[in-house]
This record gives sequence, structure tokens and C-alpha cells, in this order.
Amino acid sequence: MTAFVVEAPPVPTVPVEGQAAAFPVRRILCVGRNYAAHRREMGGDDRDPPFFFAKPADAVVTPGANPAYPPRTANLHHEIELVVAIGRGGADVAPEAALDLVYGYAVGVDLTRRDLQSTAKDKGQPWDSAKGFDASAPISAIRPWTGAPPQGRIRLSVNGETRQDATVADMIWNVAEIVAEASKLWRLAPGDLIFTGTPEGVGPLLRGDRVEGEVEGVGRLAFEVA
Ligand code: MN
Repeated sequence: MTAFVVEAPPVPTVPVEGQAAAFPVRRILCVGRNYAAHRREMGGDDRDPPFFFAKPADAVVTPGANPAYPPRTANLHHEIELVVAIGRGGADVAPEAALDLVYGYAVGVDLTRRDLQSTAKDKGQPWDSAKGFDASAPISAIRPWTGAPPQGRIRLSVNGETRQDATVADMIWNVAEIVAEASKLWRLAPGDLIFTGTPEGVGPLLRGDRVEGEVEGVGRLAFEVA
């Protein structure tokens, strides 16, 4: 047993539907611009392929908890996303074999400090402060899953008003392609979460807003911006 010179951080976890045991989070990868209509609303070129960025594992906000409105922003945005939970590791995996790595799926919100992201884009700086801040990854319980990935509706409302309403089947990279692509860049391991990108309709959140999200067949999530 290793001794530590400072207090060791706890393993972040996400609950699993129907299980007493939890899913341990190793790291969080995220796909950017994976829906054509969202790529357009962000000013992207139609030929730009999706890409990856990351959040720290302890950015997860588990069901029942409310993320605080983060500091140093005046434009916090919601991005509803299908989340892939990786249960088996692998590197350089072919798309045909990629679904074998999937443990299950969840509903997540990629909270974004849009003003910091705009500044970072303008200056060619990294996105960490825009995307990887504390409590930036609210997530539902994980639903264990085998077979064809979710394809249905993905929706988010704020205070009961629909903001995002699209179809997972419209993703530019599908789940198998996302997992295969990620595994070319990193060795995937059990505990990895992959946020698969958001559809159009992203917009601002204010303190006290009630956010509800759903991916058809996967689950729901709800939180209040504290
Ligand atoms: Mn996103």
C-alpha cells in the first residue's frame, strides 16, 4: 500500500441503474462539433471534422446534486449530450469492434463558459478553463447496454422551455466511430467517459435555472444551477 504525502483524492463515481456498485470515472473525453447544425451555429465550416477535448474526472456532478454557477463567466451555456461509459480497454480499435468496449450510456450536460471559450478561440489558446472547470459535467445514472447504440431523441429544457431537441442518429461521428477515433489517440480503459457532442440550440444558463435533459431510451437528468 502506497503512503501519500497529502490526502489522496477520492475516485469520482457515477451511479449505475439497477446496481449497488458504482462506475469509477478515470477520465472524461468530449467530442466537439459532432452535429452539423451545432457546428453551423458555432460558426464552423461544414468540412471541419469533429475533434476531442477533455474534462477532469472530478468534474462529474452526480444525480441529485446541483452544480454551482462557476466563477469568471457571464455566459454559462448548456450542451446536452449522449455519454458513452467505457467498460473494457483498448487501443487502435476498429469501428467494427468498438462497441465491445462500451459498458453503457448516460445523459450528460457539457457545461461551458462560452465567453472564455470565445476568447480562447480568438487567441488560439486551450479550452481547459472554458470546458474543464469544477462541476462542469452533470451526468445521469449510467444504463448498462449491449448491442446497437441509442439513436433516438435528445432534448434539453430550461425552466420547462425546450432549448435543444434533436436526434442522436444525426451525429456526424456515430458511437462506434467516436470510440474507434478516441482509441487511436489514447489507450482507452475502464472508467473512461466520452461525451459525444451536442446538437443545436445551446444557450445561456442563469443562477436558479432548472435544467432537464433526456436521451430517449437512456434516461433523464435534472439539476438546478445553484
Ligand atoms: Mn459539448
